[in-house]
Amino acid sequence: MNLRIGHGVDIHRLEAGRKCVIGGVEIESPVGPVAHSDGDVLVHALMDAILGAQGEPDIGVKFPNNDNKYSGASSILLLELVWKEALKRGYVLVNADMSVVCEVPKINPSSAAMKENLARVLNVASDRIGLKATTAEKLGSLGRGEGIFASATVLLEKKD
Ligand code: MG
Repeated sequence: MNLRIGHGVDIHRLEAGRKCVIGGVEIESPVGPVAHSDGDVLVHALMDAILGAQGEPDIGVKFPNNDNKYSGASSILLLELVWKEALKRGYVLVNADMSVVCEVPKINPSSAAMKENLARVLNVASDRIGLKATTAEKLGSLGRGEGIFASATVLLEKKD
């Protein structure tokens, strides 16, 4: 089997009164990410993991934040682009596993919807998508609720 592992991380500052989209799900939240796109920290980490598994440049290179085309962009749509290219190269997803670290908002009430979103885009059953959430135990800037962090690992298989 031609297997490729990939890993990605992302972090965004959180500010009051901003829209909060995580895993393609808009969450009711007093704070949201500061970002050029919709700031979907989970999808950004996932895209970097998918790109990394293929030896491709990261999303900062692919979707530069000085390009107005990506201002307010839906990260789920960017994920669709990234995944379409991976499919063209012959990759399928074996599984993805992800973690989100933040004090607010609460992730778990929306995690099933997030998993379903990501599974749909990546053409797999949702049991191939792992998603966990934890707090930073009030430690440091994440613990003060000033930001949100996500980490993603993927396993791709190249079919040829
Ligand atoms: Mg990001």
